[in-house]
Amino acid sequence: MMQYFEWNLPNDGNLWKKLKEDAAHLAEIGVTAVWIPPAYKADEQQDEGYATYDLYDLGEFDQKGTVRTKYGTKQELQEAIEELHKHKIQVYLDAVMNHKCGADYEEKFPVVEVDTGNRTETTGEPFEIEAFTGYDFKGRNDKYSDFKYHWYHFSGISMPQDPDRVEHIYRIVGEGKYWSEGVDGENGNYDYLLGNDLDLDHPEVIQDLLHWGMWVAKELNLDGVRLDAIKHMKDLFIKQFLETVRASREGRFFAVGEYWNNDFDSLENYLNVVGKELNLFDVPLHFKLYQASQEGRDFDLTNLPDDTLVARYPQNAVTFVDNHDSQRGSSLESQIKDWFKPLAYGLILLMEKGYPCVFYGDYYGLGGKESPHRQILDILLDARRKYAYGQQDYYFDHPNTVGLVRRGDDEHPGSGVAMLLSNGEDGEKEMFVGENRKGETWHEITGSIDDTITIGDDGKAVFPVHGGKLAVWVQKTE
Ligand code: CA
Repeated sequence: MMQYFEWNLPNDGNLWKKLKEDAAHLAEIGVTAVWIPPAYKADEQQDEGYATYDLYDLGEFDQKGTVRTKYGTKQELQEAIEELHKHKIQVYLDAVMNHKCGADYEEKFPVVEVDTGNRTETTGEPFEIEAFTGYDFKGRNDKYSDFKYHWYHFSGISMPQDPDRVEHIYRIVGEGKYWSEGVDGENGNYDYLLGNDLDLDHPEVIQDLLHWGMWVAKELNLDGVRLDAIKHMKDLFIKQFLETVRASREGRFFAVGEYWNNDFDSLENYLNVVGKELNLFDVPLHFKLYQASQEGRDFDLTNLPDDTLVARYPQNAVTFVDNHDSQRGSSLESQIKDWFKPLAYGLILLMEKGYPCVFYGDYYGLGGKESPHRQILDILLDARRKYAYGQQDYYFDHPNTVGLVRRGDDEHPGSGVAMLLSNGEDGEKEMFVGENRKGETWHEITGSIDDTITIGDDGKAVFPVHGGKLAVWVQKTE
């Protein structure tokens, strides 16, 4: 999978056009699915899409001062998706259903302020507030849905209070109204993230989002979704959403959730509640990779696979190195350092388990600056398709030099790969690639080592790796 956007793309409306033009190339390098950014109208044209205004406006109506979104028009998006499908590339839309922004008008309603560090605690008495929570979507004129949002469809709002600019969070008060259950426990109850928080216990909100899910999947002929901010959303709503949309798509509909928590137990608990049909981003693995890239040789590489989602729930793990949230300057910044990126991608692309996701920023670059990693990614993507088959053996047995072997299989003649990662000195490791490989000549394909190795009669060889580098050894064929 490729995440086909980064945080600092220009607001030129060209992403869908670029994606269409890129479809053939993506297929060529082995991308079989793209995760596209929120494709609907946000509170302003330049927004990345997460400050969602109207889920039904995919760049079609004159709203918020623009027809197109940051990424282009609905027609351009549909053309891009058609082209991707021609090249057998699936399309997953980023679905932002936790909150709305950019309301059309103010309403008056009762709220109570809560403690930002513990949202189950109130800090005063309920009072009437006037805030932007009314949505009429005038520019859309009831097309696709005539549902309108009002203050009672939300569970909370926030406002910066001048002059201190400190964020104040208000829970909306009403009969039976409270924060949702089944959200992350951080800050007492982490239902509230930003903007106007959708009340996922309100039957009209649930109905509208289910309707939207079925509509957008059909309208864009989607193959799946990436679910934004699910730790702030009622877990049983996500379960219902997926069941409903899946049923409307004859059961075939991929879903990966962003549960941004480094704690394996939280992810495990989430899968137990929502069901094993859902994939989650392997956030614990990301933070291990981040830590490894920060600590250099002090990081014990033998620990790398421990307590990651891919180690424990491989069928549910989408492995990734970085994304738009972890990239530098973002809210959840934890960008993996450049020296470690080839090692991190080598691991997620060549290991047997997990569904790897390549970040646009790592392939094409961030903020218009070309990525230094594109060449190694092309090599690794190619290696994944040519060599990464068959039984896997881990050699995570030394703090600074670890290895992984895929023994290859009969369906892919010449397949099999021996990979090593070093975060310290130059290293080497004896690894077994198969008795049937004896006498074969293997070479290193990342360009790090210009040498060949002969596999011994016992199916083993001693494979070297340079300090702080990745080495990928495969059979040399002439
Ligand atoms: Ca929420």
